[in-house]
Amino acid sequence: MTPPEESRGLVDLIAKRLRGRWSIMEVCGGQTHSIVKYGIDRMLPAGIELLHGPGCPVCVTPLATIDRAYAIAEKPGVIFCSFGDMLRVPGSRGTLLSLKARGCDVRLVYSPLDALKLAVGHPDRQVVFFAIGFETTAPANAMAVWMARRQRLSNFSLLVSQVLVPPMLPAILQSPGNRVQAFLGPGHVCMVMGTTEYEAVAMRCKVPIVITGFEPADLLAAILRAVTQLEEGCAVVENGYGRVVGPCGNPSGRALIAEVFERCDRPWRGLGVIPRSGLRLRAEYRDHDAERRFDVQTVERGEPPECISGLILRGLKKPVDCAAFGTTCRPESPLGATMVSVEGACAAYYAHGRHRENKAAV
Ligand code: SF4
Repeated sequence: MTPPEESRGLVDLIAKRLRGRWSIMEVCGGQTHSIVKYGIDRMLPAGIELLHGPGCPVCVTPLATIDRAYAIAEKPGVIFCSFGDMLRVPGSRGTLLSLKARGCDVRLVYSPLDALKLAVGHPDRQVVFFAIGFETTAPANAMAVWMARRQRLSNFSLLVSQVLVPPMLPAILQSPGNRVQAFLGPGHVCMVMGTTEYEAVAMRCKVPIVITGFEPADLLAAILRAVTQLEEGCAVVENGYGRVVGPCGNPSGRALIAEVFERCDRPWRGLGVIPRSGLRLRAEYRDHDAERRFDVQTVERGEPPECISGLILRGLKKPVDCAAFGTTCRPESPLGATMVSVEGACAAYYAHGRHRENKAAV
């Protein structure tokens, strides 16, 4: 798809500003989709490479967590609720959808509050919601648990796999083979949490961070700002999405998150355990923690050997570098999470026809 005409002026400005060669990572999966959809990565001067980051919550949920979800969902009497994409991500024993086909009560919901309603309507069943996501999903998940506690619902719990963006950025920069020199920050996450935490990361890691949105003009304007910082040797946070993001985020959402959750170390697919990069339920709410309620033992297994999604999530490879892309791995038969999720880089490349170019080149 062709980007709007005004974007071309921004590309010209980027070309004028550019002296060196720079690699910039867009953090958010929604941004990756816009970049691929409009061919923004191909409009840029040759000195700039865009790297796709781990900004898709389904993609970064590790295999072991999916296996735990599977083990809980197959227990008798459980109604296991999840967003749709998560049902299709392969764990080491299969997908949650395959469990549904086997007769287990696995349900697609659009909000944790839908799952809460199921708990109210089925007091004789245990209802579990798979609470994955970045800071954007945390307020709704916190609200569901807060309401469950208030209503004394003893049959509602969360399997929590919430992750946080700011601690992930230094982990990317410190990972072996890192090529990232600047970040395009996630606008919707910052809408909830504000920009303050990113300032500490930019200062400590000496990395430019430009918060931005999803439209071609937003992305190109952010790339222009990032290139300008890189050329001038600056490393600060710039808010290029001021119509949506304020420095303090959404105070009510943040307060709700702080009331229900506390920080914890969390494993990420492709990145391993990142200190203080996740949320877990506070002690007062742990009665609603599915991992405590159900004693599930899972065996840690590796990713399918042909799947390089871990390297893609760190910006070290692109979907077209994977031999399975568009051949044995397609949206209808995905091998890895980055092909399943609508926000995954492999799904974006496939949706916008890059698998056909790949085949044509072979
Ligand atoms: S194309 Fe499929 S197999 Fe290859 S990295 Fe992406 S999800 Fe994994």
